[in-house]
Amino acid sequence: MVRRNIALLGATGSIGTSTLDVVREQGYKISLASAHQNYDKLLGIADQFNIPCVVLTGITDTSLQARIKQANPSLQIYFGEDELLQLLKGEDYDIALNAITGSAGLRSSFTIMERGKQLALANKESLVMAGHLLTKLIKDNPILPVDSEHSAIFQAIGKHPIGEVKHLHITASGGAFRDLPLADFAHISPKEALSHPNWHMGAKVTLDSATMFNKALEVMEAHWLFGLPYEQISAIIHHQSVIHSLVEFIDGSLLAQMSTPDMKLPILYALSYPQRAASFLVQTELNKLSALTFREIEPQRYPLYILGLQVAKCGGILPTVMNAAVEAASMLFLRGSIAYTDMIGIAFKALDNTPQISEPDLDTIIRVNKEVFEKAKSFAE
Ligand code: NDP
Ligand code: MG
Repeated sequence: MVRRNIALLGATGSIGTSTLDVVREQGYKISLASAHQNYDKLLGIADQFNIPCVVLTGITDTSLQARIKQANPSLQIYFGEDELLQLLKGEDYDIALNAITGSAGLRSSFTIMERGKQLALANKESLVMAGHLLTKLIKDNPILPVDSEHSAIFQAIGKHPIGEVKHLHITASGGAFRDLPLADFAHISPKEALSHPNWHMGAKVTLDSATMFNKALEVMEAHWLFGLPYEQISAIIHHQSVIHSLVEFIDGSLLAQMSTPDMKLPILYALSYPQRAASFLVQTELNKLSALTFREIEPQRYPLYILGLQVAKCGGILPTVMNAAVEAASMLFLRGSIAYTDMIGIAFKALDNTPQISEPDLDTIIRVNKEVFEKAKSFAE
């Protein structure tokens, strides 16, 4: 068994929690863990997994910082994103798993890659916003996908040259409203949008699964991870979430990766790569599976997906613009300030109001992301 030394970003979230299950089973070590504000949970994790160093990027109140430090004298505790980036530059780790949610994960991915460390990436937004820059930093090691669809594609391609791949078929559950009559969409509540039929995930990605904006992000993620043009990537509805994606090769063969839907499996694959580690965390009993079905995506049910695909093809700064607008719209919807069906209008408005920049640098991406997020929030107000 390889005893990996991991930096785990977003340790308190859904992917973070699944990663801890993998770490516990495999006996890996965590040298550094981060969260945003949930200090109770992060300190509990540090205690349970003997993690020497933790960062809370979202606690700015200095008296709270002092109290947290005083109560935990044996732990190295840091605050703020800049401290996290410094630690990623200087601390000892073999692989960093970035499971921060949303655009907030971007700078960490860059710091890890600039240092030449192995990146296991759950934070798809890093590639959506800056795939053209991040992929230029790849040297010896590929970016290891944690997203289940991309892990499936990565496993199915294996050692085949990309020229032998004809098409990537990304599977989509269809989310919480795959069978809801379209007339009922205006009355969808945040609670309904947060109940996913197949996966238990963080709030933002669960909502993105309902709208299928998540699938547009995943098409962009696949484009950057595997270097294929958008014409060779598409999504298809597969209700059961057992086939995590398929690779169609030039000879007509399709290779799929299958399992019970559980993120522990792609996380384990990323952390044990290039080996496969023996594990009992996820088991699949073929005789208990229901029929596996596929169907086309209905465009009128998923307007954020359709717009996301158009934005993907435009490239440049527009994926950042749409992602920031949808982050703001999601926050407003989950707070009860706007209707489910208002989110698409916020995305359109942000795209209409922001000029294209074809090859944005990292500072421009970060600036535009922030500006669009703030402006999109105010559209609703
Ligand atoms: P969660 O919302 O469950 O967790 C997010 C984590 O990020 C928490 O640790 C949270 O800390 C931290 N965080 C939140 N905001 C910030 C911020 N502004 N700066 C730094 N850290 C922050 O998300 P998920 O685990 O569901 O998703 C994480 C990423 O993985 C997303 O990019 C998602 O798209 C991707 N992904 C998730 C899947 C899943 O099954 N959940 C599947 C495939 C991809 P705190 O607890 O303190 O708020
Ligand atoms: Mg996914």
